[in-house]
Amino acid sequence: MPETAEQPPATSKTARIKRTPKAPRQELPLLEHEKRTTTPEEVSLGFTLELAHAEALRCLDCKDPKCIDACPLHIDIKAFIARMVESDYAGAAEKIFEESPFPGICGRVCQSELYCEKDCLLGKGKLLPVAIGSLERSAADYYRQRGEAGLPPVAPPNGMRVALVGSGPASLIAAFDLVRKGYKVTILEALHELGGVLAYGIPPFRLPRDIIREELDHLRAMGVEFRTDFIVGKTCTMQELFEAGFDAVFLGTGAGLPHLMGIPGENLIGVYTANEFLTRINLMRAYQFPDSDTPVKVGAHTVVIGGGNSAMDAARWAKRLGSDTTIMFRRGRAELRARLAEVGHVEEEGVKFEFLAVPVRIFGDENGRVCEMECLRMQLGEPDESGRPSPVPMPGSEYRVPVDTIVMAIGQSPNPTVQRATPQLVTNRGKVTIDGGGKTSMERVYAGGDVVRGGSTVILAMRDGRAAAEAIDQALTAERETGLRPGRDGQPAIGAAPSNRIVAKRRLTPEISWLEVEAPEIARHWKPGQFVILRPTAESERIPLTLVDGDPERGTIVLVVQALGKTSRITASLEPGDKLADLLGPLGLPAAIHNAGHVLCVAGGVGTAELLPVAQAFRAAGNHVTVLCGARSTAHIILDEELRAAADEVLWSTDDGSGAFHGNVVELMRAWRGTHPEPLGAAHVIGPIPMMRAAAALTKEWGVPTFASLNPIMVDGTGMCGGCRVTVGGKVRFACVDGPEFDAHQVDFDELTRRTR
Ligand code: FAD
Repeated sequence: MPETAEQPPATSKTARIKRTPKAPRQELPLLEHEKRTTTPEEVSLGFTLELAHAEALRCLDCKDPKCIDACPLHIDIKAFIARMVESDYAGAAEKIFEESPFPGICGRVCQSELYCEKDCLLGKGKLLPVAIGSLERSAADYYRQRGEAGLPPVAPPNGMRVALVGSGPASLIAAFDLVRKGYKVTILEALHELGGVLAYGIPPFRLPRDIIREELDHLRAMGVEFRTDFIVGKTCTMQELFEAGFDAVFLGTGAGLPHLMGIPGENLIGVYTANEFLTRINLMRAYQFPDSDTPVKVGAHTVVIGGGNSAMDAARWAKRLGSDTTIMFRRGRAELRARLAEVGHVEEEGVKFEFLAVPVRIFGDENGRVCEMECLRMQLGEPDESGRPSPVPMPGSEYRVPVDTIVMAIGQSPNPTVQRATPQLVTNRGKVTIDGGGKTSMERVYAGGDVVRGGSTVILAMRDGRAAAEAIDQALTAERETGLRPGRDGQPAIGAAPSNRIVAKRRLTPEISWLEVEAPEIARHWKPGQFVILRPTAESERIPLTLVDGDPERGTIVLVVQALGKTSRITASLEPGDKLADLLGPLGLPAAIHNAGHVLCVAGGVGTAELLPVAQAFRAAGNHVTVLCGARSTAHIILDEELRAAADEVLWSTDDGSGAFHGNVVELMRAWRGTHPEPLGAAHVIGPIPMMRAAAALTKEWGVPTFASLNPIMVDGTGMCGGCRVTVGGKVRFACVDGPEFDAHQVDFDELTRRTR
C-alpha cells in the first residue's frame, strides 16, 4: 500500500462496525498509461488504506463463509478481512501468515475469480464479489512497509530432513509447512534464481522481484535452506539424495518443457516459445536491451499464439518492447484461460485479439527470418476433454498475415530431467503419478504442482505442496514413533553450494584458456560429451561449455573457453582464486561410446578440447582412435600432447600451411582417407557448424556412422526454453536434453546455421 495513504480512523475493536455490501467493488489503482507500455514497472498499484478499508467493509461477514473452503490454502478470509475492517492491518497479515507466508505473491497472481471470489456469497446475486485477492495483497503490502506482523512459530528440530526439488510455489508452501513442524528443509533449484515460474515466467510488471525475494526471506527466516544451480537427475541422483541423509523428497519440478505447434516454419528465426521469450526477458533482463547480454529481438509486428497467462504475459512484453502485438487464439474470448484482470490489462495496453484462428504454416525470407503466416479460421464445436467448446477448422478459410515475431504460448509438459534419470518413477505422458496424498510410486518420494498436473495455477500447485507436506509428516512421524527412522543431528551431505573457484589456469593460445574449477558434484557425475552452463558474473548471460575433464578425487572439472563474445571473454580472463557466479551441470546426454573398431575423431578450433575426453573414452572402450584436428596455424594448436596420449594417431591441418598439412580439417580427412581405406566403425565430429556439416557430408559418402556434437544457442540448458531446438531426421529435438550429440547425417545443418546466426 502506498506510504502516503491516510490511516482510516481507528475504531474500537468492540464496536460493531457497519458493513456496506452494496458499495461498489473497489478497483486497484493502476500505473499511469504512458508508463504501462514502456516500462517493466508494476501495473496494479495496490489499494490505499482507505480503499482497502472500504473494500473490506463490503464483506458480509457470513456465518458460514464459503470462500475459506474455496481457497485451496484454507486461508481464514473472513477473519483477516474482519481485522481490516477494524483497521488492524498487521493483524490481517498475521492471520494470513498462519496459512501462507506468500500473500504478496498470491494476492497478485492467484486467479481468485476461480476460487475464493467465485464462492463469495456477495457475488452470487447482482453484486460483485469482495476483491479478496486485492485485500490479501493489501495486507502483504502493509506488512512489507511496516513489518509489524509476526511469522508463525517453528517447532524445535525433529531430526528429520526433507529435500524439495524445484523452487516454485509447490515446493515453497511444502517448505513452509515442513519447517514449521521441525523438519530440516532444503530446496534444490536448477536455475540461478529462486521462484520457478514466479521468477522466470511472470513478468515484473505483474509481480515485482522484490516481492518474491522478500517472501522467500520469510522462509529463510524460518530456517529453510536454498541451493541454486543444482539439478536433480544430473548434479545428483534421487538415490544420492537419500544417501546424503534426506528422509523424504518432494518433486516440485514444474511443467517447463514447451509445446511446439508442429507446423512448417516454426524453427525460423523470430519464432520463440513463450518460455524462451519470457526467460530471456524476465530472468536474463532482456528488457534492458541494448545493454542486456541475453537480448530478445522483436520486429514491428508480433503475433502471440495462445489464450493463457503465458500468452498474455508475452504479448504485454512484446508491446513494451515496441511491437504492434496481436494475440491469436483458436477459441473465443469466453474460453481464454488467463486471469481476468490480465485480459483487461492486455486490452488497455493496446494488444489486439484475433479469436477463432490458428496458424498452419510460417514463411521466412531469404535469411530464414519469419515474415508471414498462413492461418485458418475456426468455429466452436462440441466440448472437448477440457470442458470447453472445441475449435473446429473451417475448410477453405485460409488467410495470410505479415508478421516479424511469433511467440508460441500453447502449453507446457513436465520438466523431464528427474523422470529420465529415475526410470522407476511411474509417470503418465511425462506427468508424475501420485496417490491422493502426493506419494509417488517410489518410497519416500512425493510430488505435486505442475509436474503432476501439467500446466496449472500457482494456488493449485501450493495446494499440492501442502497435501504432500502433510503426507510426508504423517509417514515420517509414524516411522519415528515406531523407531524405524531415528532423527539425526547435523547437515545433510548435500546442501552447501560449492565454491566454483578457479584453482588453476593455462593460456593455451592468446584467446583460449584452460580452467580447472572446483566443482565436486559435477566432477563426480560428468561423462565425456556432457556440458555445463555457467555465468562468470551475476550480470552475465548463461553460456554452455563442454566438459573437458573431471577429477572426482580432486573435486575439480576442466573447461576450455575461447574468448569470442563478451561472456566468453570474461570467463577466459578469470584467474586462479576467482569464482564463477553460477555453474550448473553436468548437462546433456553423454557421448555414445562403444566399441566400433576404428573410430575417427574430428575437431576444429576449440572443439579440439571438447574432443579430448571423447577420444579418451573411445580408446578406453577398446577402439583404435584416429584424431584429425584443424587449427589456423601452428600457434593455434592446442592440447597436442594430451591428444597424443589419448589416441593412436593424431594429425593436424593448418589454414596457413605453417603445420604439416596445409588446408582445413575436412581436406585433411579426405587426404587421410586416401591412404587409410580400412573400414571405419564410427566418426565423431565437433567444432564450427560449417566444418561439422562438411565432415558429415564426407563420412556419409564413406558410409561411416557419424555423431556431431552440436552447440546451438541455449538459455537454461535444462529443456525449458526450446531455444536450442534442432531438426534431426525431420523431428524437432532440444540439443540441451536430447543431445548435444546427434546423428550427423540426419541433422538439418541449414536450419542450425540460420538459428545460430
Ligand atoms: P514451477 O513454478 O514451474 O517451478 C518448478 C521449478 O523446478 C523451476 O524453477 C525449475 O527450474 C525447477 N526444476 C525443474 N527440474 C528440476 C530439477 N531436476 N532439479 C532442480 N530443479 C528443477 N498461475 C496463476 O495462478 N496465476 C498466474 O498469473 C499465472 N501466470 C503464469 C504465467 C506464465 C508465463 C506461466 C508459464 C505460468 C503461469 N501460471 C500462473 C501457472 C503457474 O505459474 C504454475 O502453475 C506454477 O508456477 C506451478 O508451480 P510448480 O511449483 O509446480 O512449478
